[in-house]
Amino acid sequence: MRITLCGAAGEVTGSCYLVETESSRISVDFGLFQGRSHAPEQNAKPLPIAEADLDAIVLTHAHLDHAGRVPLAVQRGFRGPVHATAATHELLEILLADSAHIQEMDAKHRSKRLVQGGGKPVRPLYTHADVEATLPLRVSHRFGEDVEVTDDITARFHRAGHILGSASVELVVREGGATRSVVFSGDIGPKGIPLLRDAEPPESADLVFLESTYGSREHRNLDETIEEFEEILTRTYREKRKVLVPSFAVGRTQQLFYHLAEAFRHHVVPRFPVFLDSPLAIRATEIYRNNTHLFDDEARALFAAGQFREQLSNLRLCPTADDSRALNDVEGPCMIIAGAGMCNGGRIVHHLRHNLPDPNTTVLLVGFQAAGTRGARLATGKDTVRIFGDDIPVAAEVVTLGGFSAHAGRSGLVNWYGALAASNPRLVLTHGEQDSRRALAHRLKNRFGVEAELPGIYDVVEL
Ligand SMILES: [Zn+2]
Repeated sequence: MRITLCGAAGEVTGSCYLVETESSRISVDFGLFQGRSHAPEQNAKPLPIAEADLDAIVLTHAHLDHAGRVPLAVQRGFRGPVHATAATHELLEILLADSAHIQEMDAKHRSKRLVQGGGKPVRPLYTHADVEATLPLRVSHRFGEDVEVTDDITARFHRAGHILGSASVELVVREGGATRSVVFSGDIGPKGIPLLRDAEPPESADLVFLESTYGSREHRNLDETIEEFEEILTRTYREKRKVLVPSFAVGRTQQLFYHLAEAFRHHVVPRFPVFLDSPLAIRATEIYRNNTHLFDDEARALFAAGQFREQLSNLRLCPTADDSRALNDVEGPCMIIAGAGMCNGGRIVHHLRHNLPDPNTTVLLVGFQAAGTRGARLATGKDTVRIFGDDIPVAAEVVTLGGFSAHAGRSGLVNWYGALAASNPRLVLTHGEQDSRRALAHRLKNRFGVEAELPGIYDVVEL
């Protein structure tokens, strides 16, 4: 069998593995490249084989950097099944619709500029119509179920503890009289992640593709982070502050609700108004609420006892643009959670523009801020940020909380591999910047004596 890395090789986006056997061709993940300037070209580049010739796509989870190019495959003629867990498919529907909207808007704005300059308009990478054509191809599965993907490939989903429905994918391939297993870790969550059950890696494999996002570092301790979070809540209440939280719609927002509910339940601070100003996050939260069977025991018990409903009775949803605008007049103490997570778009930008000059505002950064984003500018303490053509002075306090990650830190990745190490698999590190991959490879070699491979994009791993 041949496995070609068509993304996430030495970077953290564009996850896509083309798996070819004697008689079948499938893709594990089909994610968008994001963030870098050459991402549009990378996204438009076809696979080494025609997408129409793929027998199936298997997804680890719904995040766009793992699943965001599936509508493009459909646009190019793919008509096979898209296998994933049921919760992944539910989240996929809202994330792909949002992505199509962004692609369409983006193309419209770029075309306008190009046409003004005498050039030709550009087409969006894909549209709502492509997403509509994708959704009926979804085939949902439970964790642990054997999925006959093709005549010679069976897939199994193992919990990855990263976001709702997230999985590591194990492929069992029967070829030339031999049976071999290949494991794709997907994104692995940290041990003790709120709401979700921890990752349950498979016990053996012949070949493992392991993510290395945080291969070079550990996260801030979760207990310390919760303490810091609670201090911010206390001060918000006491000083009647307005807290703005740029947050990712799927995963991070729901984790934040968990910590908020726990703080209110333990009377750390009296309940004050919390606004969720993101249609996407509102829908994602609904999907989390409809899938409490995937929660860990503690969260399930709290949910069954009505604790989240009671403790978050102060939560107000803001689905419309008018709801969002009305928040300009809201006084502290309050918290406004809005996307996008790195402040590069979405409703948070309007709140920043309105509130950054006010020293009674706190901007709470709870997620990764990539270099070059407004979020990174805020995190590094710049005096101004540019919003809609104006330089907005930053008088607000900016706080970064480092410990609310949905990704395992270095030791989490090492422990995940440790569950498989006895079977002595061949190991390939992907989905991490080059420094992270190298650091993790070094650590795994010291611990298990394994020599990890660090292939580049379009390199082929043969087994
Ligand atoms: Zn992810």
